[in-house]
Amino acid sequence: MIVTRFAPSPTGFLHLGHALSAFNAWQRARQGGGRFLVRLEDIDPGRCRPEYADAIQQDLAWLGLDWDGPVRVQSQHLPEYQAVLDGLVEQGLAYPCFCTRAAIAREVAASAAAPHGPDGAPLYPGTCRCLSPTERADRIGAGERFALRLDMAAAVRPGLTYEEEGEGPVACHPERFGDIVLARNDAPASYHLCVTHDDTVQGVTLVSRAVDLKPATDLHRLLQALMGWPTPVYAHHRLLTDAAGRRLAKRDNAATLRSLRAEGVSARSIIERFG
Ligand code: GLU
Repeated sequence: MIVTRFAPSPTGFLHLGHALSAFNAWQRARQGGGRFLVRLEDIDPGRCRPEYADAIQQDLAWLGLDWDGPVRVQSQHLPEYQAVLDGLVEQGLAYPCFCTRAAIAREVAASAAAPHGPDGAPLYPGTCRCLSPTERADRIGAGERFALRLDMAAAVRPGLTYEEEGEGPVACHPERFGDIVLARNDAPASYHLCVTHDDTVQGVTLVSRAVDLKPATDLHRLLQALMGWPTPVYAHHRLLTDAAGRRLAKRDNAATLRSLRAEGVSARSIIERFG
């Protein structure tokens, strides 16, 4: 049975781009006699707001996109993500990183040719990767704050692929991202970890989302391989742009479903654009 999902982060109001993601996933489930799930990815307490979580559900209902079962709220499942993190640490695939952002920036600036990841940001230089078990334990014991990072060199698996609908198998190169953060001291688990975990426990078979998340799928595929989780099929859709050709973002008020509704735009006319 086909199972799709829409997994927004409640960091702002939904805009047309979200509506396209939600509609695609909803339509595929409804056409295939499957299930359409909604999940709130509210793992980052600094950026998420309960009022946006409510607004998301209201906006989906206004669009006429009904979902199956209760909404999964990630912040209610922290022990599940912690168990995955513990498993990765036990396997020697994740390590505590005590570096502050400023320390990383200094280190990167001091190195002649710091490698950069797919998003253009410099890769973590690996400062804490080689700390001894005693030093790690001492610093944690002393109350020093730390993030958990994936040891990419130890974790990477050759030959990983995933199926992109309409394109076929896509070769994964997660090593481009370096030692990604899996948990921060102020956010209990990263997007990559939670999204991959939840697509598994919710039995998602088709992940339909915008193409800006396509590069990150390499990381999701790697985490699936490390944890022995199944791999859904992926269908990344185009990004919507405004009249000037710029991609829509949450900060663009004009494109939010709320402001369109206030201007008298109907839900039907929005859905018809996607048809
Ligand atoms: N929560 C992510 C976002 O709002 C999307 C997650 C996904 O579809 O994989 O950007």
